[in-house]
Amino acid sequence: MRYMSTRGRAPALSFEDVLLAGLARDGGLYVPETWPRLAPESGGDWQRLAGLSYAELAVEVMRPYLGGAFAEDFAALVDDAYRGFGHAAVAPLVQTGSNEFLLELFHGPTLAFKDFALQLLGRLLDSTLRRRGARATVLGATSGDTGSAAIEALAGKDAVEVFMLHPRGRTSAVQRRQMTTVTAANVHNIAIEGTFDDCQALVKGAFNDLPFRDGLNLSAVNSINWMRVLGQIVYYVYAALRLGAPHRQVAFAVPTGNFGDVYAGYAAERMGLPINRLIVATNRNDIVARALAKGDYSAGQVEPTISPSMDIQVASNFERLMFDLVDRDGAAVSAMMEAFQKDRAFHLPPGAVARASALFVGASVDEATTRATIGQVHRETGVVIDPHTAVGVAAARRHRPDPSIPVVVLATAHPAKFPEAVEAATGVRPSLPPRMADLMERPERYITLPNDLASLQHHVLAVTKERS
Ligand SMILES: *Cc1c(COP(=O)(O)O)cnc(C)c1O
Repeated sequence: MRYMSTRGRAPALSFEDVLLAGLARDGGLYVPETWPRLAPESGGDWQRLAGLSYAELAVEVMRPYLGGAFAEDFAALVDDAYRGFGHAAVAPLVQTGSNEFLLELFHGPTLAFKDFALQLLGRLLDSTLRRRGARATVLGATSGDTGSAAIEALAGKDAVEVFMLHPRGRTSAVQRRQMTTVTAANVHNIAIEGTFDDCQALVKGAFNDLPFRDGLNLSAVNSINWMRVLGQIVYYVYAALRLGAPHRQVAFAVPTGNFGDVYAGYAAERMGLPINRLIVATNRNDIVARALAKGDYSAGQVEPTISPSMDIQVASNFERLMFDLVDRDGAAVSAMMEAFQKDRAFHLPPGAVARASALFVGASVDEATTRATIGQVHRETGVVIDPHTAVGVAAARRHRPDPSIPVVVLATAHPAKFPEAVEAATGVRPSLPPRMADLMERPERYITLPNDLASLQHHVLAVTKERS
């Protein structure tokens, strides 16, 4: 299995090289050259998959993408990655209505779904670097949950130096503290005077500076890294198998920001999982919902919401879907992305919009509806959901294709990560699990930098030099 860039001008790479590189050298994102089939043989394969534990299924689903990498070690690394989750099922399903389910993806160490990919990514990265006798610098941008999940996955892994940017004052206190209270010497938190999109642009800028990138062996763990997508395909398969796939179709509603999680659902569908509909649920930062409805991919201002991990105007992973929608024409993707660079906008060709609408439906959910949905789910079922999950539930209830088809809403964060919004809607203050109960008292460590690439690069170089 090799990986190709969505912009068509970077060399094809192996799984390990893509893991280390993150972004392709032509500015594109890596995608697999082909989609492996989940059950290539016959019905018997599906039956076997349905009987596996989460970790066993993860090995089966991901192995075809590795091209032989990590041979015997892979199963042990996967097992280790999911052993620390706080629920025996790893990703339990909870019913919240007639044919409506939540897939709880918040039982990992940082209480959000990003642990699924990052716990594994950290182990694979460390293992690869140590085998090669190399070091790497991880540079990432986070609107909240990625940062803590990456830091938790890489803290103390001394082959890696971690620099994590977050938009100053725009993450919740719990989200910030999950990053800034980690004291491992290889972890460096930076608050940027700007938005998440500014942080992400700085990371892209640093990666596009090839001498800087090569000098530091720069690596990305934010959602452009292929491994982030791969680690998220598994739970779509796991949930669908539990609800009767392949004999029964399933729909998913996915709280969406950077389009990484829902793109993993698309990958699962490409692999042969019978997904009837992917409901792309955004808050009022609705660039992806507009792109899917009308082909209008145009960035406005980021508007803060009570679901801050989805407060973006540039959905990086959307480029991966675009690539398929234009028949994997790298030059066409390049042209659209160049237009976007210049004008902050482009239009998808009408054919591409029609094609996307066969599987995807976009839905933007406003703040009042999000709050009301948290309250409604609590009153109806006693289940307390976080604001991101509530965006998913609201979108699912509005757009589910057919009441006879089960709809699974991805519960992307634990409600205790957003206690104010949840308490306001339900009257219940969700509490953190005991292992994190003293989070608000732990000392924090981070520095603040302006929204300026040169200052960031100067800082990263100075710290890396001091640490080597
Ligand atoms: C990151 C995140 C999202 C958005 O996921 P994308 O892959 O960026 O679309 C949704 N909810 C929560 C809680 C998140 O942390």
